[in-house]
Amino acid sequence: MQLAEGIVIKANKYQENSKVLTIVSPQGTYTCLARAASKLKSKNYSYSQTLTKIGFQISKSKRNSFDILTTGTVINNYHQIKENYAKLASTLIIFDLTYHLSVHIDDFFTLYNFLDVTLERLESTNYYKYYEIIFRLKLLFLLGVGPTFSKCVNCGKKEQFMFFDFYGGGMKCKECTGDEKKIYRGDFLQTIQTLYNTKIENIDDNLLAQLPNHLGFINEFLDAYYEHFLGFVSKARDILDKVAMSK
Ligand SMILES: [Zn+2]
Repeated sequence: MQLAEGIVIKANKYQENSKVLTIVSPQGTYTCLARAASKLKSKNYSYSQTLTKIGFQISKSKRNSFDILTTGTVINNYHQIKENYAKLASTLIIFDLTYHLSVHIDDFFTLYNFLDVTLERLESTNYYKYYEIIFRLKLLFLLGVGPTFSKCVNCGKKEQFMFFDFYGGGMKCKECTGDEKKIYRGDFLQTIQTLYNTKIENIDDNLLAQLPNHLGFINEFLDAYYEHFLGFVSKARDILDKVAMSK
């Protein structure tokens, strides 16, 4: 029996002891019911946890109710992430984004592989904050609203950039500048561009160690970008920040 592969990005308790799972796979996002998954002794327990890579099979519901998870097996439970609060927080931010925005994505094959590689890197990296940023940045491309760094958004010229025109979504050259209402400039744009243009497979801790620390600037940029172009404000970060402060 061939099992589908997927990553559980959300597992909500449902009724007495079941769970409703959201699974991202190369074929799309599935929502399904895992019966008795909240019970420790249940066969459904181990693979019905948020942040688990699983093999699974679902049976389509006949009536208007949830599809049912019929078979599951754990491929990776990411214990290296789960044991590190900061890495887990970055992962939950990534999942929150995926959960809310994947409906706008057509290319699930790429989304799944991207998520899969990102989690793999998060397990071993010392630069987890960068992987959170890399995910947010590259997801913009999959969402069709990727920023343009390599050419002028107005004329396409590849030199003499003056600044990043926020509402235009990209760089502007000397000749195309006008009455931009919000611009970004500075070295951090170079750092963003490196992270945006380098394939995730080619990013490692050696490369990240060489980057200047522009995390604050980049996060601010991404927050504004997601809010303006997608109307998305992450509540996950606020909640996680509060939890972190109360620790
Ligand atoms: Zn131009």
